[in-house]
Amino acid sequence: MIKTSFGILAVALTGMAVAAPKIRVMPYDGARFLAGQMFDVRVEFTPSQPGRQIVEPMLMIAGKSVPVVLDAANGFTIRAYRLKDPSHYTIEATAKESGDNQTTRTSIGFRIEQAGGNKRRIKNIIICLGDGMGMAHRTAARIVRYGVKNGIPQGFLNMDRMPGYGAVSTHSLDSFVTDSAPGMTGYVSGNHNDNGSEGVYPDNTKDAFDNPRIEYLSQFLHRTYGTSLGIVTTADIEDATPASQMVHTYDRGKGTGICNQFFAERNRSGLKVLMGGGRKWFLPEGQFGSSRAAATNFAYATDLLSSGWNPGGNTIDTSAMSTSTSLIDSFKRVGFGYVDSATALKSVPADATKLLGLFAYGNMNVSMEKIAKRRNPTKPGAVDDYFAPDQPMLDEMAEAALKVLDNNNRTNGNRGFNLLIEGAHIDKQSHAMDADRAIWEVLEFDRAVGKAIEYAKTHDDTIVLVLADHECSGFSLVGALKKSMSEMQALPSDRDKLGPDTHPARQAAVGTYEGAGFPHYPILADGFPLTANIDRKLVVGFGAGADRYEDWLSNAIQVYDGSAPK
Ligand SMILES: [Zn+2]
Repeated sequence: MIKTSFGILAVALTGMAVAAPKIRVMPYDGARFLAGQMFDVRVEFTPSQPGRQIVEPMLMIAGKSVPVVLDAANGFTIRAYRLKDPSHYTIEATAKESGDNQTTRTSIGFRIEQAGGNKRRIKNIIICLGDGMGMAHRTAARIVRYGVKNGIPQGFLNMDRMPGYGAVSTHSLDSFVTDSAPGMTGYVSGNHNDNGSEGVYPDNTKDAFDNPRIEYLSQFLHRTYGTSLGIVTTADIEDATPASQMVHTYDRGKGTGICNQFFAERNRSGLKVLMGGGRKWFLPEGQFGSSRAAATNFAYATDLLSSGWNPGGNTIDTSAMSTSTSLIDSFKRVGFGYVDSATALKSVPADATKLLGLFAYGNMNVSMEKIAKRRNPTKPGAVDDYFAPDQPMLDEMAEAALKVLDNNNRTNGNRGFNLLIEGAHIDKQSHAMDADRAIWEVLEFDRAVGKAIEYAKTHDDTIVLVLADHECSGFSLVGALKKSMSEMQALPSDRDKLGPDTHPARQAAVGTYEGAGFPHYPILADGFPLTANIDRKLVVGFGAGADRYEDWLSNAIQVYDGSAPK
């Protein structure tokens, strides 16, 4: 009996000694914002044991005490916070637990950066985002498109001709391996987000749409200067990169809610052009092809609706949130023209100022499939299987978007615009390790980059940025086949030849170093190769396997490389 009591007592004492609530503050330590950029501050207190109460929560922001009223999740959010003076600031939170006198303290530091000068030379920002596009993707596309002779590239991609070049890190807030959501968000909010989340910090509530927000570039510039926003992608429009222009959610998979937010918050970002796939999120629930569903929808948190994110209480339009609503009709009702095919896109009125284009139910088809249909319209193909036989190419969408945004500039006193042009399938086809299709996607993307550069050449208040959010699958150029396609087809399977002394024929046919030579792809007038299956075709490898050895320990000494006398 004594022994048992002693044991319980010891546990209790230990428990008391470590009793301290955990405190999480967002923004994170090291965050940066533009002067005047809005962001939400959230503080969360987690008791050391269930049943314990948080007492005396206190919060200091930028040296000022803020009264804290804890919500049901033991947290507290300040919406739409902003500071106008560039400097370093701190947020400090403290709390105690019931039955304990110990105070726990957490503090983070953040910076407010000067937002440009007084002169606004650049009014139009065009971001061309090659999703998952690494250096090797570009090199492969250049070789396929232009070829090489005497070691000299016989032409350069549009993006090769950019006047400046740099590299940035796009790690997410919770991993060094980012995904498209925090990748894009990083560029257009200046903040790191958790993987899978767009324009928000993590929080401890289940609702993916109530998270602390960070104001996007499009929202900041629209609020400050009245700029327009255009979003153009070959993906489903709810996908991470397009959504990360103006949608705030912790869950990139919530398509109904994401597309509802495009509509509801169009006037916070100046949304004027929305083009891509994803019609399924816009069709009323129950209609053919519709994916609108309560499970991927949301309702606005009340504190958000009464905050600076919804100035005057009427900027966020919640009239089209129901899954039985046609979002296409809703966009039409507020003046958007709607097109659903390449043919319809050609007949958009020359003076259009608002345009919704949904060219597929989900992701649009990849360029190889779209081109195959254009070259041979009567031959059934993947575009027919996808119920979208007449889809535009990305450069055609980019050109139409630029026209509509330019019309806005002409009718609103040249307030400027932000335009995203995303080549989405560079990433998706690299995920699928379909090298030929990934390369063709870079070609399609680069043609759209060309449209952006063309626009900038005649509008000197325009900047074009060609970006990638991350690389995908460790795409790398291995070499080229040493044989013709028919010779390759005639080779025996490597499966029959595996043995330590034989070099399997199909492996031996991969030429590296001088064995690779210069593959030559004939290019047709549409800008794409006649075929991906040329003789001596380019060979691509994928490095997306984990670095792995038996015991995970680094070698104690380097492997002998034969260069020193033994
Ligand atoms: Zn991506």
